[in-house]
Amino acid sequence: MKYTLEPVAVIKTCFPEKFGIPRQSLLCPSAVGELILLPPYNQKEAVAGLEQVSHLWLSFIFHQHVDKQWKPKVRPPRLGGNKKLGVFATRSSFRPNNIGLSVVKLEGIEFRDKSNVKKQFGSQDPQVILHVSGIDLLDGTPVIDIKPYVPYADCVIAASNLMASAAPPSLSVIFLESASLFLDNLAFNKNKNNAVDFKQLIIEVLQQDPRPAYHEVDSARIYSMFLYDFDIKWSYRYDINNLLNIDVVAIIDVAVTKIK
Ligand code: SAM
Repeated sequence: MKYTLEPVAVIKTCFPEKFGIPRQSLLCPSAVGELILLPPYNQKEAVAGLEQVSHLWLSFIFHQHVDKQWKPKVRPPRLGGNKKLGVFATRSSFRPNNIGLSVVKLEGIEFRDKSNVKKQFGSQDPQVILHVSGIDLLDGTPVIDIKPYVPYADCVIAASNLMASAAPPSLSVIFLESASLFLDNLAFNKNKNNAVDFKQLIIEVLQQDPRPAYHEVDSARIYSMFLYDFDIKWSYRYDINNLLNIDVVAIIDVAVTKIK
């Protein structure tokens, strides 16, 4: 039996590329997204009642992997990237049917009328937008269903998973001078709250340690990832207590660099 699925929404997120996206949802509460309902689902009626709900289940397509062949065994980064497990024992994005599942926080529901929409998006379609946070999704991910989280049924107090029993430990994130200066300027030129939220987003994302699991610590190596239009660069360093820290060495506004 074959099914054809059409997305009900597409999500705009702070993650323009895969590298650095949190490995599960809700790990980075400052990672926000806008779930834009697509026609014919972009109706107020379709979300009536959702304002009573704090969290959503999103079923989505790992759309950057749809052309990749699935394999029965995968190497989850959580296990160091060198141990193989059955694909159905993992949350790997390389899987049959390419379907992902994330719980996210519903921050608000917005309706934009046709006149505003035409100005902003060049289209006449009315906009129904669900503002969400705690996302682990690439910008442009197609969402195939949205459901309310039902705490009494979905939160299984006695559940266990011996392969991933707790959230991974988080690293300390330190902003070096040039990165701090960049954030100070951002706060000065734009909105102070935006800069504070952006700093918090960088901390939450980097403290998850985005480095591929098979990379040894190499303090000379500079890593880079994009958040929105900003290129974030960092390196690793052991402190005097032999704890691994992350130093944010630079933040570059790529949109500004392109204009120059
Ligand atoms: N919570 C979801 C689940 O369990 O199905 C996703 C978990 S999966 C391990 C999370 C990773 O999927 C992210 O770190 C990112 O690298 C990748 N990812 C997110 N959106 C994607 C997309 N649209 N296409 C391909 N990979 C994606």
